[in-house]
Amino acid sequence: MSTGTALRDRLRGQVILPEDNGYDEARRVWNGTIDRKPAGIARCAGVADVLAAVRYAREADLPVAVRGGGHNIAGSGTCDGGLVIDLSALKAVRVDPAGRTAWAQPGLLWGELDRETQEFGLAVPGGIVSTTGVAGLTLGGGFGWLHRPYGLTADNLVGADVVTADGRLVRADDDLLWGLRGGGGNFGIVTLFEFRAHPVGPELAAGLIFYRADDLARVVRGYRDLMAAAPDELTCFLVLRRAPAAPFLPEEVHGQPVVAIAACHAGPVEDGVRALAALRELAPPVADLLAPRAYRDFQSMLDGSWTAGFGNYWKAEYLTGIPDTMLDVLAEYLRDITSPLSDFKLVVLGGAAARVAPGATAVAHRDAPYVLNINSRWALPGDAEPHVTWTRRLWEAMRPFSAGGTYVNFLGDEGPDRVRAAYDEATYQRLVDLKTRYDPDNVFRINQNIGPRSGG
Ligand SMILES: Cc1cc2nc3c(=O)[nH]c(=O)nc-3n(C[C@H](O)[C@H](O)[C@H](O)COP(=O)(O)OP(=O)(O)OC[C@H]3O[C@@H](n4cnc5c(N)ncnc54)[C@H](O)[C@@H]3O)c2cc1C
Repeated sequence: MSTGTALRDRLRGQVILPEDNGYDEARRVWNGTIDRKPAGIARCAGVADVLAAVRYAREADLPVAVRGGGHNIAGSGTCDGGLVIDLSALKAVRVDPAGRTAWAQPGLLWGELDRETQEFGLAVPGGIVSTTGVAGLTLGGGFGWLHRPYGLTADNLVGADVVTADGRLVRADDDLLWGLRGGGGNFGIVTLFEFRAHPVGPELAAGLIFYRADDLARVVRGYRDLMAAAPDELTCFLVLRRAPAAPFLPEEVHGQPVVAIAACHAGPVEDGVRALAALRELAPPVADLLAPRAYRDFQSMLDGSWTAGFGNYWKAEYLTGIPDTMLDVLAEYLRDITSPLSDFKLVVLGGAAARVAPGATAVAHRDAPYVLNINSRWALPGDAEPHVTWTRRLWEAMRPFSAGGTYVNFLGDEGPDRVRAAYDEATYQRLVDLKTRYDPDNVFRINQNIGPRSGG
């Protein structure tokens, strides 16, 4: 960026250019397969910097990538040859315990927000890994341990300050807020999120339980039946993977396919202990880590398996259910899984997340009872091909059970049809209208893009 020094004059925060120390670190995102070289990185120190960076990018005709926590699998938090507007330094939080409201800046990670809200026994529903960014996860929807009792993260977004494509700061009106609840980063840069928070923990019953792959059919059937009748407080992720060489697992299963359930009961500890006990009846466990624990500890329990810098290739699909005809597919692809770091998950939806009326937010497919998330992951440098092929084949094999859509936050670089598949038609058209109103030139296009109407 030959004029990068001009941007430096306009920003209170740091501007990192290709010739600077720290450029390689600053351009990196969570997914290690992404290797993009932006013309510059504007690490904003405040809202004025975000405004200045947007205006600068427009004057210099530079593509804009927006970075919150940097976890996006498609790598949309960075770009080639454009300006990265990096919000990672913006980490202020304010919690109003009496009003059960939390205001969060866009550089916060979930663990950081939880640290503040849990001080008051509150939580905003977030994701299942504490290092994921609050910003991107919220704007795409947000599933986690609390979506059944309290709705998706986006459902708990009650206000936002937004820097628009024409370089203004606005308070989101109802229409814009609707789009921010699931429409991603298409309409502007959120500089402040206002969330509803809920009483959670600080101690609750949660953890992991592992079973042998030979018991897959009983466990999956039992999981399905249990979840069909479960209270909203109970949220589970069924995980199929090879067992890590962890001390809590017997050595004979290390590296072997296993079935695991990660479970969180958000109600009183005694109720949770009783509810989780049912998981022990599905089949004899090979490891049982279900116990009362601090919500924050559970929130970071999986972090070690999801560190940055690995190869990653993901695919996702909403499912109509878990019929018995799916069991052979699950068993086959678990047996053939290509990496000890990969997994695939059947995440139970429902509860409060399903009770939000269709069209009330930009998140679609709320009636699907499960979402499939295939997370291939391997050490770098390494050949991506076997993992990508396994992922695609598994996804194809699961298509007969598809509810006809995908979850936008789990999308890789899969093209416009897959972005459309994240929304129903009415929602998609309303998002296009909103995009046309707020970003007619598609300044914010390095994302799961919703294009404006031409001539709009
Ligand atoms: C290890 C891991 C675990 C995950 N777990 C979950 C989970 O439990 N539940 C779930 O729902 N999802 C989960 N995800 C997916 C996650 O929601 C997306 O990857 C999300 O994009 C991450 O947000 P981020 O801020 O970290 O990412 P970034 O890459 O920084 O941002 C992603 C995109 O969001 C937009 N964006 C970011 N900040 C702003 C802003 N302030 N204003 C406007 N647009 C912005 C931009 O388009 C940006 O490109 C997980 C991802 C990973 C890698």
